[in-house]
Amino acid sequence: MLSLCFGLTQGASAVWKDYSDNTNVFRFKRNEGMKIALTFDDGPNHVYTEQILDILKENEVHGTFFVIGENAKIYPDLIAREIAEGHEVGNHTYHHPHLKKLTKEAVRQEILLGEEALYEIDDYRPKLFRPPEGMCSEEIIACAEELDYNVILWSIDTLDWAHNSVENITEMIMTNIRDGDIILFHDHVTKISPTPEVLKIIIPKLKEMGYSFVTVSELIGTR
Ligand SMILES: [Zn+2]
Repeated sequence: MLSLCFGLTQGASAVWKDYSDNTNVFRFKRNEGMKIALTFDDGPNHVYTEQILDILKENEVHGTFFVIGENAKIYPDLIAREIAEGHEVGNHTYHHPHLKKLTKEAVRQEILLGEEALYEIDDYRPKLFRPPEGMCSEEIIACAEELDYNVILWSIDTLDWAHNSVENITEMIMTNIRDGDIILFHDHVTKISPTPEVLKIIIPKLKEMGYSFVTVSELIGTR
């Protein structure tokens, strides 16, 4: 997996255009209520999505899953469970392509195919779009806006896909967390994921500090 954008998100936002002048693009949404959003990309996955859903349920918190359309088609039951348990499902394209290499029409098709995959499963229309690897351009954003999406990036990158350790991720989150943060995890990785263990540690700790966990639409105020 190419990862240029992932690597640039912590402490190096100056080199990663944040599009904060665009009201439809969010990396975070500061608020008075200590609300934060957990997000999970690239699923569903037959191992980790289920584990993560179990942990969120035990802790009575909701998250947002940015799913890949072709994975959604393989595991429709997991999408149905995400929706039934009150989580939000966002569009992460159908094939997870390198969007900057595509024409605007092809980007549009990727978003629409991802949307259709979800609609076929549960009559669900996602309103959030996360471009693969956070890869943005004015054209990609315009395309998502024309299809009525908010574009969701992130303010904390766990690098869980790169097999960052449980300890490192936990410490990084606990050190950097601020109200309104959008935290990027993955529920589909190629090797062993640290994410379930991290969630078991950070959710109770953050709750104790007064943070509450909301879906991205709740955080940005569109739901
Ligand atoms: Zn992705």
